[in-house]
Amino acid sequence: MYDVPIGVFTSIDAGLGVNFEVVCELGLKSIQLHTPQRETRTSESASSFLYKLCEHNIRITAVFLGFEGESYETIEITSQTVGFVPSKTRAARLVEAFEISDFARLLGVTYIGSHVGFIPHDRRSNEYAEVVESIRSLCKYLRKNSQSLTMETGQESVQSLLTFMDDVACDNIFINFDPANLILYGVGDPIEALKLVGKRVRGVHCKDAISTTGIAGVDWGREVPFGSGEVDAVKFINTLREVGYHGALTIEREIPEQPERQKEEIGSAVKLINSIKSKIMY
Ligand code: MG
Repeated sequence: MYDVPIGVFTSIDAGLGVNFEVVCELGLKSIQLHTPQRETRTSESASSFLYKLCEHNIRITAVFLGFEGESYETIEITSQTVGFVPSKTRAARLVEAFEISDFARLLGVTYIGSHVGFIPHDRRSNEYAEVVESIRSLCKYLRKNSQSLTMETGQESVQSLLTFMDDVACDNIFINFDPANLILYGVGDPIEALKLVGKRVRGVHCKDAISTTGIAGVDWGREVPFGSGEVDAVKFINTLREVGYHGALTIEREIPEQPERQKEEIGSAVKLINSIKSKIMY
């Protein structure tokens, strides 16, 4: 039996992930939290949310950063709007990330997840150096709150991600491994990638996808329920065990406009993951 918790995304107020009631209905004890809106990031709302978590014996494994103006409509728009790479919004988002880190601290959360953005390809460019510097200052801030950064996989190959993390050169920078993103963005085989970065993984998204029929890296692949796409769920979870991962397996399925379908699909993913976990004998 591979004894790690299964989790799901939820929010306090952001309208993403599943409703808290669904977390309870599914009997899950682990969540990742989308960034709450600014007006909700208060000690009062942290206390009342913690009370709810305590009542149901649920633990938050990470708060995921999200900013106004981000859009995943196409890969091109994603590269222009997401994370700390777009220069126009970088400084303001950094300040906001510090605020979110402070709020996460009130919740006792030690991992902050982030889509950093499409890391510039040219390591000698000013842009690359600026993004490295921004993420370094984020890591330094998180360190003061006893937190670490987990970078979401997918927007570049894991080799580029590793090089970037080494250039940031902080001891509190890790990876949140999302196998579907590698397929969606067309940047490599998720299982091989996981073997390569396994030791640095501190969070996992159980998400699935099918490669694009258009041009890889330009056209999106398609996200599908976990277990029904190109991510080999059995191999994925067995490889997590092999690389020594012992954190939560957080199911990610963002279709909040179809809450019934979302609940059903997440419920099926829970069953699938439990069955795979139970067959792991070491
Ligand atoms: Mg993800």
